[in-house]
Amino acid sequence: MSTSVLSIQNLVKYYGNIKALDGISYDIPKGCVFGILGPNGSGKTTTLGIVLNVLNQTSGNFLWFGKPSSSSTRQQIGSLLETPNFYHYLSAVDNLKITQEISKRGTKKDIDNVLEIVNLSQRKKSKFSTYSLGMKQRLAIAAALLGNPEVLVFDEPTNGLDPVGIAEIRELIKKLAQEGKTIIMASHLLDEVEKVCTHVAIMKKGTLITAGSVQNVLVNEDIVEIASSNNGKLFELLKNYTGLQQIKQEQDKIQLYFPLAQANLENINQYCFNNGIVLNLLTLKRKSLESKFFELTNN
Ligand code: ATP
Repeated sequence: MSTSVLSIQNLVKYYGNIKALDGISYDIPKGCVFGILGPNGSGKTTTLGIVLNVLNQTSGNFLWFGKPSSSSTRQQIGSLLETPNFYHYLSAVDNLKITQEISKRGTKKDIDNVLEIVNLSQRKKSKFSTYSLGMKQRLAIAAALLGNPEVLVFDEPTNGLDPVGIAEIRELIKKLAQEGKTIIMASHLLDEVEKVCTHVAIMKKGTLITAGSVQNVLVNEDIVEIASSNNGKLFELLKNYTGLQQIKQEQDKIQLYFPLAQANLENINQYCFNNGIVLNLLTLKRKSLESKFFELTNN
């Protein structure tokens, strides 16, 4: 049995002459918080629009729960592509009654429950017009939760919110994930993906740069730079050093790559000395996530 909630297979999308998606493929595992990360115009919204049947792909395919999209698969997906048009003069409860009526998702009984989940119970009778932006966004998420869908799809869920509103939405997403929902969200913020997501697909100009667990894709590394009077000999000595992930010979130094916080400079120094090499350079550089992201999206 497949554990993929969504499998995207070679999706291509043209808007007239503009190629918005250039054959992207990846799988979204069940139970993860999956971030689609990329700069403006990279194709995130187009991808979500296609998998939610709002847009037609030019070619390629996608499967929800291992099956082609149908009304029964769609019932298991709650989505928030853009802020829905709630009625300003109605309360949260009355707005959700209308949403429930139109979407036929869940029953009226679910309304109190979804308002509780998004922490709006206290204000459920207040008019929508009195809500802060963050509360409006939480109400939109409540609407997506009607019918208790297994998967939630959000496009830039924290866009336009102040820091408090952003933190509330991020906490809510984590809470929903803990309850077992699979969450798929687009974001242009590396920081957001790092804080909220377990998995990521990085997009650039309609292509997929890389996809996988956040740990594997965006992991920070320790880079130790060393040199001696004989770098060739040093390279040979260290190429099988314990814990080393990668070794690179640069012009006048050698770079040793270790997992984050795993490099021990004293041990490296001692090892070289014990083997007859005196180092004239030994420094630790930490590659920031920003520089890794920049590197991934700017090559
Ligand atoms: P943003 O974060 O700015 O929303 P995005 O990563 O979601 O960006 P898309 O909105 O999917 O990217 O856009 C991908 C490409 O397709 C861009 O070049 C965009 O200009 C183009 N595009 C999107 N919608 C249309 C449209 N309706 N007509 C023509 N081109 C479009």
